[in-house]
Amino acid sequence: MNKPLRAGATIGILGGGQLGRMLSVAAARLGLKTHIFEPQANPPAGHVAARVFTAAYDDLDAISAFARSVDVVTFEFENIPAQALNTIEDICPVLPGGAALVVSQDRVLEKDFIRGLGLKTAPYAQVDDLAGLKRGLVEIGTPAILKTRRFGYDGKGQVRITDPAQAAEAFAAINHRPALLEGLVDFEREISVIGARAIDGSVVCFDPGENVHENGILRTTTVPASLTTAQATDAVILTGHILNALNYVGVMGVEIFVTKGGLLVNEIAPRVHNSGHWTQNGCVVDQFEQHVRAIAGWPLGDGRRHSDVVMTNLLGDEAACPQMLARDASAALHLYGKEISRPGRKMGHINRITGRGGA
Ligand code: AMP
Repeated sequence: MNKPLRAGATIGILGGGQLGRMLSVAAARLGLKTHIFEPQANPPAGHVAARVFTAAYDDLDAISAFARSVDVVTFEFENIPAQALNTIEDICPVLPGGAALVVSQDRVLEKDFIRGLGLKTAPYAQVDDLAGLKRGLVEIGTPAILKTRRFGYDGKGQVRITDPAQAAEAFAAINHRPALLEGLVDFEREISVIGARAIDGSVVCFDPGENVHENGILRTTTVPASLTTAQATDAVILTGHILNALNYVGVMGVEIFVTKGGLLVNEIAPRVHNSGHWTQNGCVVDQFEQHVRAIAGWPLGDGRRHSDVVMTNLLGDEAACPQMLARDASAALHLYGKEISRPGRKMGHINRITGRGGA
């Protein structure tokens, strides 16, 4: 894409969940429209978008019609089938491009890519079969985590192994799928950096956030994170390095373990990220607007933190009574409009301002 999007142009978003919804709201604020492509009926993003395409990702006629109806396509999740992506790319630009998707869809390629940049990760081994898992356990030792190479999220498709004798059981638990064995990292804290890169190559990173997970699901993000200045600077620099190496356009989330031995990159997400929701109330330009600006070919905004924030996810029934949540005057409430609540399902989040930003 060479020309910046004009006022009133339309962005196509693959995926209609809360990330697509918040991207759509940001696009609307900038005078842009969105069309959503989502297999499930009544997606949260559909409530705030100009048009919804309801079809499966392998319905290439529907994918083509969607692509023809928009000026640029982006996505809110990384597991987009290659065929759908190729079909769209023949019709209109997709940003961020395929390179970041290929790397982030496969945990082995992802780790190889990160190590290839000279960055650190947990020790890991590729697992194709039970014999490979046993070899990996000898090499890496226990405790370790077995993760499916593809389609894992929120801790799904992962098994912890504390004793090599559990190998067969663990491999069966992930249905004998190709996997990655990772050494369990004794981290001090988990952080993430949300970074944005524009078409002209300029990069803006938000301050690192400190993440607490429960049962593999993000519970809170706190900014500022408890980091030394050197750690915070390193985290931002490594994020810029990853963005540049992929010639990336858009917003990316980089999950990092802080250890005594330095920063280890856990995972990259080629999209807006749950741990970046604090930016909605902590920065003048949040991650959603930053992503829209980047893929529109517009200049990035100011990502400095003007307020300290604790973001808390509302899971399952925690969002059932919005009027009760709204009683807390210090809390900005963000609800996703999901009709059905299930335990652990992300229904909304709260951003609490805890102080003036140090930026
Ligand atoms: P992931 O799907 O890789 O982001 O993993 C989800 C969560 O599991 C992470 O945010 C960590 O809390 C935990 N986790 C994943 N991999 C490791 C590891 N190698 N060592 C320690 N904890 C991990």
